[in-house]
Amino acid sequence: MSYAYRFDRGHTDDLLSFLAAGPSPYHAVAAAAERLEKAGFRQVEETDAWDGRAGGMYVLRGGAIVAWYVPEGASPATPYRIVGAHTDSPNLRVKPIPDTGAHGWRQIAVEIYGGPLLNTWLDRDLGLAGRLSLRDGGERLVNIDRPLLRVPQLAIHLDRSVNTEGLKLDRQRHMTPIWGLGDTREGDLLRFLAEECGVHAADITGWDLMTHSVEPPAYLGRDGELVAGPRMDNLLSVHAGTAALAAVASRTDRTTPLPYIPVLAAFDHEENGSQSDTGAEGPLLGNVLERSVFARGGSYEDRARSLAGTVCLSSDTGHAVHPNYADRHEPGHHPVPNGGPILKVNVNQRYATDGRGRSVFAAACERAGVPWQSFVSNNAVPCGTTIGPITAARHGITTVDIGVAILSMHSARELCGADDPHLLATALASFLEG
Ligand code: ZN
Repeated sequence: MSYAYRFDRGHTDDLLSFLAAGPSPYHAVAAAAERLEKAGFRQVEETDAWDGRAGGMYVLRGGAIVAWYVPEGASPATPYRIVGAHTDSPNLRVKPIPDTGAHGWRQIAVEIYGGPLLNTWLDRDLGLAGRLSLRDGGERLVNIDRPLLRVPQLAIHLDRSVNTEGLKLDRQRHMTPIWGLGDTREGDLLRFLAEECGVHAADITGWDLMTHSVEPPAYLGRDGELVAGPRMDNLLSVHAGTAALAAVASRTDRTTPLPYIPVLAAFDHEENGSQSDTGAEGPLLGNVLERSVFARGGSYEDRARSLAGTVCLSSDTGHAVHPNYADRHEPGHHPVPNGGPILKVNVNQRYATDGRGRSVFAAACERAGVPWQSFVSNNAVPCGTTIGPITAARHGITTVDIGVAILSMHSARELCGADDPHLLATALASFLEG
């Protein structure tokens, strides 16, 4: 059987660039938009009136992006096929009055975002990235991608029991990075950023800044069969979804029209519950889907028909079996790296997958010749969750939770199989194609 899409290691090479280019959600959506522009997508503003033209479009709002491709001849009631993901990752973010310090050290006050493995942020060379809001209403992305900050771990001589009793970190007292020597001066960080960006410090009237490890992502392992890098949860899915949407929109050899409108929805704020104007709990996706129906001349009835036929694959990372802690996993469900994407099930709706959703995912993988695996939690270990159940409940859309099995989830540097990203992208393209 010939199949239209076949991503390969070139996709994983590009993922490494994407991870490095996305130290903040704002950077990640800019990197996704850049790839979509190359595939002919154009940005539309939420504040403009939308038209019903065919083609690829995307909306950016803060750290979120929704992109969709209206095929020629789509009716107002044409259903959507959505790939959902999230752009944010746990990290350390700059507090409103950042300049602090003690005992001759200059430090930056940080707030802990999401649920990081705090120990993985120790003794890493950290850069600083995010968004500056300027007095004139403009915005500026900033990425200082060199060793600038560090959260130094206490020496073992001063913490003798650390290896036997475990590392105990106080989130307030122990996680403040140092970034130099000398007296703390108010406004120091802003002056530094202003200099870096070539603006006046007084013109920086707001900021959303976060730290990142400056160590670049890399292939790892005896045969380079693994990838180590930051933010794979969940830029891996954002990248795969972007590539899949771009590929489906760029295809020219299709003999029958696309039966669906393919969509990528990548939200911010998943790591703290998705409740924001750019999170999955917000109205962003619903607004876009609705406005697209109305822009194509549709009625409320068309909107209802379209959504009733819509399916969302919510893609996020899951847990590969850890060789040193296999007992934490469900004994009959051991996803392995490079075994293909995982279908995530939780009957208590921490994941939205049900049997019908499983069928949709299995069919997409089968068409694409992509192997896939099943994930379910050990009954004694509480299950994580993601945007799937929120999307299902908020929009009444059939949703299936899937993803890629990784190790070290929420570490500053995670680990996955080098083949899984392109297997995921291939499966997503097959799903979007319908
Ligand atoms: Zn995630």
